Amino acid sequence: MIEFKNVTKKYGDKVAVDEVSFNIEEGEIFVLIGPSGCGKTTTLKMINRLIHLTTGYIYFKDRPISEYPVYEMRWDIGYVLQQIALFPHMTIKENIAQVPLMKKWEEAQIDERIDELLTMVGMEPEQFRDRRPDEISGGQQQRVGVARALAADPPVILMDEPFSALDPISREKLQDDLIDLQKQINKTIVFVTHDIQEALKLGDRICLLKEGHVEQIGTPQEFLGAPQNDFVKNFIGDAGAGGFQHITVGDVAKTHPFSTSENISGYPTVSSKASINDAFQYLSESDGIIVKEDDKRKVLKNKDVFKYLADSKESDER
Ligand code: ADP
Ligand code: MG
Repeated sequence: MIEFKNVTKKYGDKVAVDEVSFNIEEGEIFVLIGPSGCGKTTTLKMINRLIHLTTGYIYFKDRPISEYPVYEMRWDIGYVLQQIALFPHMTIKENIAQVPLMKKWEEAQIDERIDELLTMVGMEPEQFRDRRPDEISGGQQQRVGVARALAADPPVILMDEPFSALDPISREKLQDDLIDLQKQINKTIVFVTHDIQEALKLGDRICLLKEGHVEQIGTPQEFLGAPQNDFVKNFIGDAGAGGFQHITVGDVAKTHPFSTSENISGYPTVSSKASINDAFQYLSESDGIIVKEDDKRKVLKNKDVFKYLADSKESDER
């Protein structure tokens, strides 16, 4: 869907993004992560041509992005920022309506779409559509930001640290809701964060950058189970193997019902007494495990494990 081929961006002599290559698949959440200044925002903004690359190629649906009109890239790629950037003098409805208005949608169609979008992001349309941004909370403003990015139903959404200014409880809630929302909308989402827990929880795949280079690209289980070098190991830190010795597979499984309906053959079986660390080797080879407790079994999907670990880490921090 989006392919980077040896993409380099220089600001003067400073190399911000250095020969980066990757392929973002349609319908996945692709997380760009790394320390401050590693080139995440630059990488993201090159996709919708807010920043021009210096050398290399970026393809969008197999065509170089330079072949698309700039306005088309801006309209067909939704964009959500950390700094909410809603227009303060406009209502929520007017904020969300910007791109549909530019696309000259009919008024009735816009009204209907706005109510649909507000509902999708968990906000009652009646209650919120005529308020102004300063009349809603930070978390609600970010929800409106997401609704606005989705307004004209773009296939791709870029999100630059959209939840990082929020308190931990709102952040967790918006992450959970984004996971649920993505099940309905199935967009290609490029999500920037500096928070490894958020990356493990949301990402189908994660791309870790350091000083403009790609250090590792892989699924959350590959990051946890097989970090490729010391930088990756240090970056995932507590989240990596070694950090969860005290959590057992059974702890995570407690939050899930025993399954009888699902076909549970084909996954490796792990004892509920095993530590999560010991389960990582299986998690890195499969997208789920069968948890065995006495003679009962249940399936635990990798996503559920990472979500549990991310949530338990966040509550440690509180
Ligand atoms: P991140 O989003 O990962 O924090 P950025 O993509 O914003 O990183 O920046 C990458 C590097 O490029 C940093 O060293 C930053 O200082 C530099 N940089 C970003 N924007 C500019 C700019 N407009 N002019 C010069 N240098 C810039
Ligand atoms: Mg940034």
